[in-house]
Amino acid sequence: MALIVQKYGGSSVADTESIKRVAKRVVETEKKGNKVAVVVSAMGDTTDDLIDQALSIDSNPPEREMDMLMTAGERISMSLLAMAIHAEGSRAHSFTGQQAGFFTDARYGAAHIKAVRPDRVKNALSLGDIAIVAGFQGINAKGDATTLGRGGSDTSAVALAAALGADICEIYTDVDGIFTADPRIVPSARRIPSIDYESILEMASCGSKVLALRCVEYAQRFNMPLHVRSSFSRRPGTLVVPDGIDPRTLPNLD
Ligand code: ASP
Ligand code: MG
Repeated sequence: MALIVQKYGGSSVADTESIKRVAKRVVETEKKGNKVAVVVSAMGDTTDDLIDQALSIDSNPPEREMDMLMTAGERISMSLLAMAIHAEGSRAHSFTGQQAGFFTDARYGAAHIKAVRPDRVKNALSLGDIAIVAGFQGINAKGDATTLGRGGSDTSAVALAAALGADICEIYTDVDGIFTADPRIVPSARRIPSIDYESILEMASCGSKVLALRCVEYAQRFNMPLHVRSSFSRRPGTLVVPDGIDPRTLPNLD
């Protein structure tokens, strides 16, 4: 039995139909005999919409209130996904960043994770439940909500995978993995089947936006294998693996 962390980005949970589709995929992974923890981003453009709303009220909103607002996006998707999993006949429990034990420093809007103590997530998994965790958020020493910076759910997912000792962290997006160029712009772009952390970090520092830089640094630090793949297809994606690990030995490749 493998322990798998799956992260679904905003485009994969853009509306309730998409959330139902993701729920099916999560349940399918569980039914194959795996323990599954899921990290979700906010639905579609929710985060941008929340920022626009805030700025239409105050051009320089208080940072603390901004993070209170921004963390709401992921709470919507986490609870709807938990409901969709229930509707599929499996048990799921959603957790905010705070409930999942993400402790950060005090930098609102760009907080760094200091520790992850996911006791409640572990407990849910040990009871046979699927755990859903809101990405991109934690709490600071004052107990206030913080966010990790735009695109931060990838980092949440890898940090959770490391803290749980997961076998793999799957990053679900709207393209079939990491390509030599953006496949939406360059039709001849080729998918990279497997790659090491250093090369991905180089690509990220050259402006390639497949994965947040901090997420890859985190994965490298904890030797956490990543599988970047599409939630819209069944095709294999791109494996990002530590040296010396045979990518074919990783779980849930099909
Ligand atoms: N919802 C946040 C954002 O749009 C975090 C994420 O998607 O990773 O930046
Ligand atoms: Mg987003």
